[in-house]
Amino acid sequence: MHWTELALKKAGCGSREEFQRKNGLNLSGRWDLPTCRALWPWLPGYVLHRMEPGQTLYQVAQRYGSSVQQILAANCGLKDRPLLPGQAVQVPLDCMVVPWDAPFGSQMQEIFLEGLQARCPYLEAKALTKTAGGRTVWALRLGTGPRRVLLTAGHHANEYITSVLLWRLLEDYCRSIREDVGLFGFSGRMLFRRTSLYLVPLVNPDGVDLATGEIEPDSREYTAAQDLAATQPQVPFPSGWKANLQGVDLNLNYPAQWERVKARKPRRPGPRDYPGPSPLSQPETMALADYVRRIHPDLLAAWHTQGGEIYAADGQGRIPDENLARKLASASGYQLCSVPPESEGGGLRDWFLQETGKPAFTIEAGRGENPLPMEDLRQLYEENLPIFALLLAG
Ligand SMILES: [Zn+2]
Repeated sequence: MHWTELALKKAGCGSREEFQRKNGLNLSGRWDLPTCRALWPWLPGYVLHRMEPGQTLYQVAQRYGSSVQQILAANCGLKDRPLLPGQAVQVPLDCMVVPWDAPFGSQMQEIFLEGLQARCPYLEAKALTKTAGGRTVWALRLGTGPRRVLLTAGHHANEYITSVLLWRLLEDYCRSIREDVGLFGFSGRMLFRRTSLYLVPLVNPDGVDLATGEIEPDSREYTAAQDLAATQPQVPFPSGWKANLQGVDLNLNYPAQWERVKARKPRRPGPRDYPGPSPLSQPETMALADYVRRIHPDLLAAWHTQGGEIYAADGQGRIPDENLARKLASASGYQLCSVPPESEGGGLRDWFLQETGKPAFTIEAGRGENPLPMEDLRQLYEENLPIFALLLAG
């Protein structure tokens, strides 16, 4: 899907002509600059409006199909000061920032981030690191509470639907805070005060851009990946790709029984299962491990696909918070399982459990074959909203 198609959909228009007509633009029959300029704000879902002399917020809301309440929520302190001509005001448009069917990749993630920050000024973002391909790994923070919860997704390239899922859940959480409505029956504002949410929604942007087709087949990155893929010809390319673009499986690169993992896995970089030359050899895993050491989470969850299973136990079969684990399973319909021996070690969860002994979950969301199609996102959302809310509530 081209960006214009997605933006038209968000604007509620079936065609370019309809959009031009609705917005009082010239019916030029092409993508001229004024049309592109008017359409672009629908991607992040907000307009930066300059106040005109004598203009009220109500008039601005009317003009963009927004509401005064939404504008006030998106602009800290706007209520307390008089409006000045020329003053810039963020106006949320009447659409979701994270739609059900967006073509996903690292660039779309930047748009999600911009759009959610424009609606929810409390959402903080920090660049954890740059990947070898120059893409940013983002960490987000939302909430002021003493409980610290770290959620991650997108370690594995062809499991990118988990990243979109966390962005989708985050948008709903932001809304529940802003509008004081429930999130799976919990008050968003209560969760905000109880818990500090730390979120790394896309750990592997290089790999995800390959698996989603964002990297052009004639590019150097693509052909380099193709060469690595030749070491494992049985893995479909690029749809079966799990690693980063250095050919390292990031969720086998953490220092938890790493030598044992290394002994039974491929010895060369490839599309999947290579644990790397040494633990934390990759910028993504190094940055995430540093982040964990800095923020000291009380709980960690890592999203993967698929199988409809939750792993909660450590290597000895002990579950740090069995009560919560059972709640997650019964609310989502996923099964609480012990980790299959061949999947043990090298993962973020393994390392976190080994270092802290605190609750840590792997969520194997959805059912089917990776990559799960984006049409599965609604179903995934239904199953994982309770998990997300229960993890925040504790
Ligand atoms: Zn995975």
